[in-house]
Amino acid sequence: MPRKPAAAPPLWSPAEIIAILDEAYGRAPQQASRAPLFELVLTLLSQHTSDHNSGEAMHRLVERFPTWDEALAAPVEAIEDAIRAGGLAPTKSKRLHALLAEVHERRPDWNLDFLETMPLEDAKAWLTSINGVGPKTAACVLLFALGRPALPVDTHVERVAKRLGLVPAKMPADKAHAALESMLAPDEVYAFHVDLIQHGRRTCHARGPKCEGCPLLERCPQVGVV
Ligand code: SF4
Repeated sequence: MPRKPAAAPPLWSPAEIIAILDEAYGRAPQQASRAPLFELVLTLLSQHTSDHNSGEAMHRLVERFPTWDEALAAPVEAIEDAIRAGGLAPTKSKRLHALLAEVHERRPDWNLDFLETMPLEDAKAWLTSINGVGPKTAACVLLFALGRPALPVDTHVERVAKRLGLVPAKMPADKAHAALESMLAPDEVYAFHVDLIQHGRRTCHARGPKCEGCPLLERCPQVGVV
């Protein structure tokens, strides 16, 4: 009688992944900034640059323009000058100016606090209806500024989740985003996001992941593949 092939070990569940990666890397507690527009601008500035550079650009922006009204009234060149430390300043300054104009048109008082109590899907839709704001940016604003359970899926989160078999490797990013968010309890979203980013940066690199020392090695379906 032919032998049955050995059953593959079960995949790690999101809760197990969080517990293991929390233990491996530690994790700062979630602290909502309560500043959704600040977070929206910071997320725009953080595209294609390091946290350090985008933080510096944001610092200089608010130093030069203490209010959003002043930033909106300024010439684009002045914004470009202020955010130069964040890289891609010519492009980002135009985007930022257009973003501020659109937000101001919809909310003349610049107050986006209503996103905290709006149904989550409506809040996402409101943000992504702003020109240039995608699901990842919207999720950053909702999670980091307002503590809402929206999952930003960046390159690290997507890569690690796919390697761990939580979503199929070929699933497009937008579908992976929805699938991952739906498998998390609301109080797991922040931890999952932060832990997978840490794991992607420190261990599960895009090229040459350090599988030998990986705390998820035992049940990772990628062993011997990547
Ligand atoms: S075992 Fe390797 S591929 Fe799997 S999660 Fe760990 S580092 Fe990534």
